[in-house]
Amino acid sequence: MPDKKLKILFAASEVVPFAKTGGLADVASALPKQLKLLGHDVRVFMPKYKTINTTKFKLREVIRLREIDVPMGDKTHRISVKSAFIPGTKVHAYFIEHPDFFNRESLYVDPETGKDYKDNDGRFLFFARSLLEIAKTLSWQPDVIHCNDWQTAVVPLYLKTLYKDDPFFSETKTVLSIHNVGYQGNFKPSAVKLGGFPEELFQPLSPIEFYGKFNFLKTGIKYSDIVTTVSAKYAREIQTSSEYGFGLEGVLHDRKKDLFGILNGIDDDIWNPEKDDLINTSFSKDTLEDKEKNKKALLNKCGFSYHPDTPLIGIISRLADQKGFDLIAKVLAKIAAFDMQMVILGTGDQKYHDLFTKAAEKYPDKFSVHLTFNNQLAHQIEAGCDMFLMPSRYEPCGLNQMYSFMYGTVPIVRATGGLADTVIDLDKKPKKGTGFTFEKYDAKKMLDAIKRALKHYSDKEGWRKLQIRGMSQDFTWKKSAQRYIEIYQKALNKT
Ligand code: ADP
Repeated sequence: MPDKKLKILFAASEVVPFAKTGGLADVASALPKQLKLLGHDVRVFMPKYKTINTTKFKLREVIRLREIDVPMGDKTHRISVKSAFIPGTKVHAYFIEHPDFFNRESLYVDPETGKDYKDNDGRFLFFARSLLEIAKTLSWQPDVIHCNDWQTAVVPLYLKTLYKDDPFFSETKTVLSIHNVGYQGNFKPSAVKLGGFPEELFQPLSPIEFYGKFNFLKTGIKYSDIVTTVSAKYAREIQTSSEYGFGLEGVLHDRKKDLFGILNGIDDDIWNPEKDDLINTSFSKDTLEDKEKNKKALLNKCGFSYHPDTPLIGIISRLADQKGFDLIAKVLAKIAAFDMQMVILGTGDQKYHDLFTKAAEKYPDKFSVHLTFNNQLAHQIEAGCDMFLMPSRYEPCGLNQMYSFMYGTVPIVRATGGLADTVIDLDKKPKKGTGFTFEKYDAKKMLDAIKRALKHYSDKEGWRKLQIRGMSQDFTWKKSAQRYIEIYQKALNKT
C-alpha cells in the first residue's frame, strides 16, 4: 500500500535560494523538494528577511494571511505573510513578515557589533509561535512539524504547553533535526515569559534550563517526538562526549531510542557539472578533460599561472573554529612549500580572516583568498579545483565534500561526523577509496593526508580513476528523503 500523503510543515530560518548562511539552507530547500516529488504536501516556513529579493522570487501577498494576530507574552504582534514557490519546484514557501524582527540586513548576527542580535530570543520565539498561528489561519493541519536547529526548536514546547488542549494540533507530531549541536540558542530566563510560557517551567535542571539559561535546542530535544541529525556517525558522537555534544550529550543519550542519523543529500539540479550555469565549461565523467578548462579559468581569476602538474586545492567554508583552520595555521609554511596552489573562499572569525590575508601576502603565488560569501565562486572552486580540504574539528554532515565528488574534485578530510561517513581513504582501501582522510585532530596528520593526495595526483591515470569513482556515487536526496518519511511515520505512531 502506498504511504499516506502527509502534510509536513517544514520550519527553517534559512532556505536556498532566498537566504543562506550555511548548509541548513541547502537542506531546507532540497529535502522539501524531494518530499514533494514523493507526493507529500510539504510547505516551508521562514522569516521574510530584508535581503530576500521579493521581485526576483515573485513573493506574493496571501489575502487570507494579511493581518494575523500572534500573541506573545503580554504583547500581540500583527503580521502578514507572503508566499512563493521555491524556484523550479511546486513547494510553497511562506515568508513571515515582521518589520522589527526580520527586516534587517543579516540573519542572526548584527553587522555593526559582529555579535548575535540581542533580541534573537524574541525573534525566534515569535517565528515559532507565528507559524502555528498561520497554520491555523490557513486551516491547514500539519501531520508533522519538522523543526530545524535552535531557531525553531521551541515549537514542540509550544505544542506541549500553550497549544496542549488545542484540538487543531491534537494529532500533530514534531521532528527536530539538529544540523549542528554547537549552536544551541541560550538565552536569559526572561525569554520564558517573553515566549508566553508558564514561568514555573524554568527550574534548575528542568527540561528547558541549561546552566541558568533558557536553552532552545535542549528544549527541542526534550519535547519533540523524534530527534534526527545529519549523519549516522555524528548521531553517535554527540551522545558520547562534550567535545561533540557541547554539554547536551547526556540529554541526547537519554533520547537515543528516538535519535536517528540521516545523511543529507545534495540537490543535483544545483550542484551538477553537467548543467551548472555558474561554471566556465560544463563537463561530466565522459568529458572529464573539460574540467581542466574550469581550472584554467579559476587560476586566471586567482591571478595564478597554470602548471599542468601542480594541483589546485579548494576551501569553501564558514571561517569558524569548528572547521579546523587552527591546524592549517600551525603548518602554513609547510603547506606553502608543497607543489600546490590553494584557493580559499570564506567569511567568519576575524582571526581566520587575518590568518588567510597574511598567508596570501606572504605566499602570493600559493594562496588566493576571497573573504566574502559568493555562491558563483563556490561553484567555480568546486569545478576548477583538483582537491578540496575540510580538516574539521567536528562536522555534522558537511556538504562540500559531496559537491566535490560530483565535480571530480577529490576531498581531503578529517574523519569525523558526516565526513567519515562519506569519504573512504584511498590508501586504506585502494579499490574503494574516494579521497584522503585523517583520524586524529592533529596538524601533522593533516599534512600527511595532503602529502599522500599530492603523491597520488602525480599518477594521472590513477587519479582519473579516483575522480570517476567519486563522481559515480549517488548522494542525491532520494534515499534520505525516504528515510525522513519513515521517521515521520514513526512520529505519527507515537502516543
Ligand atoms: P555549515 O552548514 O557548517 O556551514 P556545510 O558544509 O554543511 O557547512 O554547508 C556549507 C554551505 O555553505 C555549502 O553549500 C557551502 O558551499 C556554502 N558556503 C560556505 N561558505 C561560503 C562562502 N563564503 N561563499 C559561498 N558559499 C559558502
